[in-house]
Amino acid sequence: MSHAIEPKPGILQIAPYQGGASHVDGVRDVIKLSSNENPAGPPQSARSMFKKAEHLLNRYPSTDHASLRAAIGEVHDLDPERIICGAGSDELIHMLCTAYTGPGTEVIYTEHGFAMYRLSALASGATPVEVPEHERKVDVDRILDAVNFRTRLVFIANPANPTGTMLGSNEIGRLAAELPENVLLVLDGAYAEYVDGYDGGAKLATKRENVVMTRTFSKIYALGGLRVGWAYGPSHVIEVLNRVRGPFNLGTLQLVAAEAAVKDREFVEKSRAENARLRTWLAKALAEIGVMSDTSTANFVLARFDSEEEASACEAHLRGDGILVRKVGGYKLPHCLRITVGDEPSCRRVVHSIAAFKGQDV
Ligand SMILES: *Cc1c(COP(=O)(O)O)cnc(C)c1O
Repeated sequence: MSHAIEPKPGILQIAPYQGGASHVDGVRDVIKLSSNENPAGPPQSARSMFKKAEHLLNRYPSTDHASLRAAIGEVHDLDPERIICGAGSDELIHMLCTAYTGPGTEVIYTEHGFAMYRLSALASGATPVEVPEHERKVDVDRILDAVNFRTRLVFIANPANPTGTMLGSNEIGRLAAELPENVLLVLDGAYAEYVDGYDGGAKLATKRENVVMTRTFSKIYALGGLRVGWAYGPSHVIEVLNRVRGPFNLGTLQLVAAEAAVKDREFVEKSRAENARLRTWLAKALAEIGVMSDTSTANFVLARFDSEEEASACEAHLRGDGILVRKVGGYKLPHCLRITVGDEPSCRRVVHSIAAFKGQDV
């Protein structure tokens, strides 16, 4: 329907975001494996700081986030001056598109890439350009082929969602080096902490003028409900992003809870180890009942089925058993289901239910 009052071009191409479902009618004790949340629950350190800070709610929050940036800088060995915090990495993706793109410019992301890249590009009036992947893996040469004089941003999640695959630092470094110098490469490190020894692209972003890294508290830190993310990159980029950032984009409770969480290295170590152990178990148990997946580097497994129909039927079967997983047809993977690595009983339950769906006993 057309109205006299119209938004700018691009906005109506944005399909409303579909979040992971969280309930099933008539089923209590639902297992939610649809949003890549950490089953450990929020760290105790963050919960206590959150409670302690409630008396500050009448005061405006810090506008420069100095204390949180200092803590992030200390833990990750990065210059806090080159860090910016946002309401989830979603806000940072948005700020990047607002600052660097607009009508007549192009934003590159890949075939199975995270939905927010396209949405934020459209919201800025830019043209989203989707580049094919190679067997569910980002293909650097295809990205380079797609770059032209209109290209401003290239978004890659590494590890990627929903595929769970990842590019090595040689490939990422090659991409950064071969992009024209006026194109900014955004490395989305939402799942970086799940990869032991991986810095999310921090070293590359330290060295290069055209690389920025985004990170989040929503995944391994188990604080998706808090909405805190951050980015690290060259000073010229961080200065630009601070100009488009709302001065009070994070509330006091967000700031203090995130600061406690980032200092809680033990929580991250434990979560990483437990995820790796259960992810291996889950992938193997699924393979044993004929459901294959690529080797995942994140906190989920992308289970492949024989057809879109089988994947849909399996999702419905799981839902009937009170287990929610993610359909990924919107990511051009209609024959797959993305299953978050839950706690051990959840992993067992999901395998048991899929085995029953497949007509097998485990
Ligand atoms: C979950 C996720 C994010 C995190 O978004 P937040 O806004 O920080 O919650 C970012 N990128 C990818 C690829 C994700 O899967």
